[in-house]
Amino acid sequence: MKYISTRGNIKPIPFKDTLMMGLATDGGLMIPEKIPVISDDTLKEWETLPYPMLAFEVMRLFIDDIPENTLKNLVISSYKRFDTSEIAPLIQTGKLHILELFHGPTLAFKDIALQFLGELFSYILKKQNKKINILGATSGDTGSAAIYGVRGKENINIFILHPNNRVSPVQELQMTTVSDANVHNIAINGNFDDCQALVKTIFNDLDFKSNYGLTAINSINWARILAQVVYYIWCVLKLNKANKLPVFFSVPTGNFGDIFAGFIAKRMLGDKYISSLILATNENNILTRFIATGSYKKSAVVSTTSPSMDIMIASNFERYLYYLYDKNSDNLKKSFDIFDQTGELAVSPEMLDSVKKDFYSFSISQDEVSGIIKRYFDTYKYILDPHTAVGVGAMEQAINQYDLKGGFVCLSTAHPAKFPDAIFKAIDMNPPVPKAFQGLEKLSKRKHIMDIDIDAVKDFIVKNQ
Ligand SMILES: *Cc1c(COP(=O)(O)O)cnc(C)c1O
Repeated sequence: MKYISTRGNIKPIPFKDTLMMGLATDGGLMIPEKIPVISDDTLKEWETLPYPMLAFEVMRLFIDDIPENTLKNLVISSYKRFDTSEIAPLIQTGKLHILELFHGPTLAFKDIALQFLGELFSYILKKQNKKINILGATSGDTGSAAIYGVRGKENINIFILHPNNRVSPVQELQMTTVSDANVHNIAINGNFDDCQALVKTIFNDLDFKSNYGLTAINSINWARILAQVVYYIWCVLKLNKANKLPVFFSVPTGNFGDIFAGFIAKRMLGDKYISSLILATNENNILTRFIATGSYKKSAVVSTTSPSMDIMIASNFERYLYYLYDKNSDNLKKSFDIFDQTGELAVSPEMLDSVKKDFYSFSISQDEVSGIIKRYFDTYKYILDPHTAVGVGAMEQAINQYDLKGGFVCLSTAHPAKFPDAIFKAIDMNPPVPKAFQGLEKLSKRKHIMDIDIDAVKDFIVKNQ
């Protein structure tokens, strides 16, 4: 399998190079040249596989430049730090299933991909005898998951920018208490989009990028999307056995990475297995507005109880638009040029029809989130984290409004203990504190506070080699 850029100016390259490149050097995002299609027979063969073996089978379709046995071992290592052998348990609550994706070391779904990325980087760097500097922006969960993916690994430094005092206290503790010398937290006086813009600009300095081996680990990296495709297929296999097809997935969405993985899974399996995806947003609903109107238009970010979804621009959205534009990179580029100038991108009515076939979308307010957490606790004694509650709310509305029939899975993207304030507000009690969080506040913290200043960030990277 070779990979190309959405902007069309990179000749096809293999998986390992795609992994190391992160953001495409032509300013686009990397995608596979083709999406493999899975036959019913293959799917049947996969039915009994444990999660890591299924992950291996899915990934080998996309990775042909790592020996199979090595890839298998890397995948197995990626999931050995999870606290359940199921990796991603599917829990039934009424009509809905909750797919718990938070059993990794940082208790967020991002571990599923970032543990794998850490293993991949480590393997490739050792083989090539190279060093890299990972640079990324986080609105909370990516940072700690990325840090835990590479902490203490040789040949890797990691620099994570987060909006100062705008991630939850637990998230901040998770990132800043990691004592490994290769881990550097940079707290920016700004919001998440400022952090993301800084990272994007630094990556666009191609000399700096190549001199320092800068590498992305946020969801623009294709390998992350790939690791996330697996759990969609995992759910389909489970619900297929229970005769609940097609499966509707509700995805609490921020940067569009997770739901894009669902889009790939749907292309691989077909509509018989995966129906329209339900794109769930909080008050930061640029994507919900796009799906309703065909206009993708910036607005100010508001802080909510689901901070990992507080974004203005969804960095992975370009990948979807590439397919929507029928793989026409020139038209895509023109649209993004207009977006950069005006803050708005509009698609044709025909394209909008096709968007509406791919997605249902609902925006769920913080008050609704609180109500959903309470109702779930009262009815099922199950505590949803606020991001997952957004997903549940959107799914309930979609089922009602469109009278959906099939299997229903809401992706649970974080453990509720990561957001104790929102939980307390909803149910008047604190979520139980998981082992991974006990005693964190007693550890010493390290963070470097900076203004929105490209040179300061670059300087810091240079000084910490
Ligand atoms: C990152 C994250 C999301 C959003 O996922 P995207 O891939 O950015 O759309 C949702 N919930 C939680 C808890 C997250 O950490």
